[in-house]
Amino acid sequence: MLQFESVSKTYRNGFTALEAISLHIHEGERVAIVGSSGCGKSTLLRLAAGLTLPSTGRVKVYGTPVTRPEPRVGFLFQEPRLMPWLSVVDNVAFGLRGPARQRRDIVRAALLRVGLSGCGDYYPKQLSGGMAQRVAIARALASAPRLILLDEPFSALDAIRRAELQDHFLQLWESDQLSTLIVTHDVEEAIVLADRILVMQPHPGRIIEEVRVDLPLDDRREAPGFESLKKQLIHSLRQADPKAR
Ligand code: ADP
Ligand code: MG
Repeated sequence: MLQFESVSKTYRNGFTALEAISLHIHEGERVAIVGSSGCGKSTLLRLAAGLTLPSTGRVKVYGTPVTRPEPRVGFLFQEPRLMPWLSVVDNVAFGLRGPARQRRDIVRAALLRVGLSGCGDYYPKQLSGGMAQRVAIARALASAPRLILLDEPFSALDAIRRAELQDHFLQLWESDQLSTLIVTHDVEEAIVLADRILVMQPHPGRIIEEVRVDLPLDDRREAPGFESLKKQLIHSLRQADPKAR
């Protein structure tokens, strides 16, 4: 459903952030891309979302070249990006079309799904970081996307909230069979959320390795095999970018 065909991205200042990226995400698949900071992860997601265009090569969603954001593809940023002057309900409803009653039902269902039913009248400044990110998830779900793009979505949260939201996201995924592409520098997050992990190297950003996650979906952090997979990925990342921490 999402395809990159030999995609490169050179910014206007001449800096090549991505080179020869080819990938294919199938319907219902969950893929993570891991790479050190600055290796082009956000650039890659922005290309998938139609927020920026490739310099060479093509990005396609359902076989059609992506030229602008479209409703079948949802985006979750690193920070919630809520509008402070709008209530939670209005933030989730933002950008929805259709009759008011239908929009209200969609928003109610989305808030229920992220466990924030009672918080519709709150304003962003009244929310904790975890709650705000749940609102952002509700907003991303409200347009009923088939593919969701996640850019280090839980990295601003403490470890407990992060694990909680990762588990919550997995439940949502199981019920919707949403296709997912997540970029992260956190290998644990990649293992917990994805079935296939692509490793990136920087300067210019390229995909150098693909790793399958053959662990049960429930409680992967505790599964035998989790630690060795984590070690393997950290090793790959170090080789990809010796300068990274
Ligand atoms: P990541 O998300 O992996 O940290 P980014 O995709 O944000 O990486 O950035 C990749 C590289 O491209 C970085 O070196 C960054 O400085 C550069 N870059 C990002 N956006 C721009 C831009 N608009 N113009 C020039 N260079 C950019
Ligand atoms: Mg980034």
